[in-house]
Amino acid sequence: MIIQHLLREGSLIVGAAGLCAAFAAESAPAVRVVFPAAGSTVSTATQTYLIGSVTPPDTPLRVNAQTVTPWRTGGFICMVNVVPGTNTVILRTGATERRHTFRVTESAARPGDDTGLRVLEPAQPTGVYTGESVRLACRAPAGRQVFAAVGERTVPLSAAADAPSRYSATLSFPAPADGVPVVFFADGLADAPAAPVTARATWPAYAVTGPLFAARARTEPGGGDTAAFLTPGLHVQGAGYVGSHIRFWLGGERRFTESAHLAAAPDIPLPPRDLALPDLAAGFATRPPSGRPPADILIVLDPGHGGPSTGALGPTGVTEKEVNLQQARLMRDVLEHAGFRVLMTRDSDVDVDLYERARIAYRAKADAFISVHHNATAAHTDPRSVRHISTYAWNAIRLRLARALHPKLAAVTPIADRGVMTASFAVCRNPAIPSCLLELDFINCPEGEEAIQRPEQQRRVADALLEGLRAWLAPVEP
Ligand SMILES: [Zn+2]
Repeated sequence: MIIQHLLREGSLIVGAAGLCAAFAAESAPAVRVVFPAAGSTVSTATQTYLIGSVTPPDTPLRVNAQTVTPWRTGGFICMVNVVPGTNTVILRTGATERRHTFRVTESAARPGDDTGLRVLEPAQPTGVYTGESVRLACRAPAGRQVFAAVGERTVPLSAAADAPSRYSATLSFPAPADGVPVVFFADGLADAPAAPVTARATWPAYAVTGPLFAARARTEPGGGDTAAFLTPGLHVQGAGYVGSHIRFWLGGERRFTESAHLAAAPDIPLPPRDLALPDLAAGFATRPPSGRPPADILIVLDPGHGGPSTGALGPTGVTEKEVNLQQARLMRDVLEHAGFRVLMTRDSDVDVDLYERARIAYRAKADAFISVHHNATAAHTDPRSVRHISTYAWNAIRLRLARALHPKLAAVTPIADRGVMTASFAVCRNPAIPSCLLELDFINCPEGEEAIQRPEQQRRVADALLEGLRAWLAPVEP
């Protein structure tokens, strides 16, 4: 507890193992499980990792029937088989036996998978233009005659040639219709109601509410790519909806955003369908600021998580948020010592909204944004089998920064190297600032948890970041 308290305050990280050993000399062997927490529920398939620590660190441990060798910090990890419902794991240290109980979610069977009708589309209430085609699709056993009742109409569905249990059709509404019910049916099968469809000749104008970067114009409702960002106050022409996602016109394309980001603006004239967006990247450099002195270059460092968002957990209970902050502070010191200007998105144990982190860099007109994280696996994957270092960027434009930093960081981190990847992380979706996210090691691996806290390693990583930035800033031959 004392150690945990000090760790939270960020004042003590090294020597945790040494202190454990000192305390342990006076007490009996003890075992603590960090994940899955006692009484918690994990959603996993057939296995979950169990992480925790023993004191003293060299205490022999058995988990169920397995012998587990704790790492030198006392941290351990093992995979245990689980079943849906309540699971109890038995941990033995010497003569002591402890039971640890948690729950695993039962996987819900999907009704109608093989024997009945299952709706695919429309899965959510849908609004379209009159005359526009709406897709109807469902799954049913192969070889059936499947229909959809759409209001007063009956529409036959046909099976796909390459997927005989997938049936579909399209239909359009020649006149306005409000919340028309859709029901799939076939001989001998129970009816399957789908979401209702509304058709209108026109949809209202909307005003974009909320802060910069929060409202994304997406290519699919709730998914797809981010085609653009909607600036606050912008007016767009509505084009229907899918569930809680409003469809609207932008640049001649139909895009989607969550309805929370838009407010109906019935009093303004409908904006054009080919509305162009203000360029959020205007006034920002399109290439690394090569040739400028470091004092003229602003780097934003973003320690991931904070406050109630702990990030991932290590076997001895170390949280990702505290190691992210330590590592970022050291990076700041090294970069400032080299003459760069540095801004931190947080310098204490507070959580900062993900979009706000990107906005901090945008408002400050930063030259680069670097988010600092430590990785962990999903509950069913053993981190020892996948432990690696990787760097993420949003798209090709930002890859240049990630590609300059990553090799230097990987060179000082003796674990598997997965290189640079693209991912759509909120902090990195910055249209104007080269941004990347570092996943430096795996905190839920006992060896990783120890390595990322070592001051020498943190220092090597900070020095490597500086080297990477210098590589990024080096003039490129034309
Ligand atoms: Zn993280």
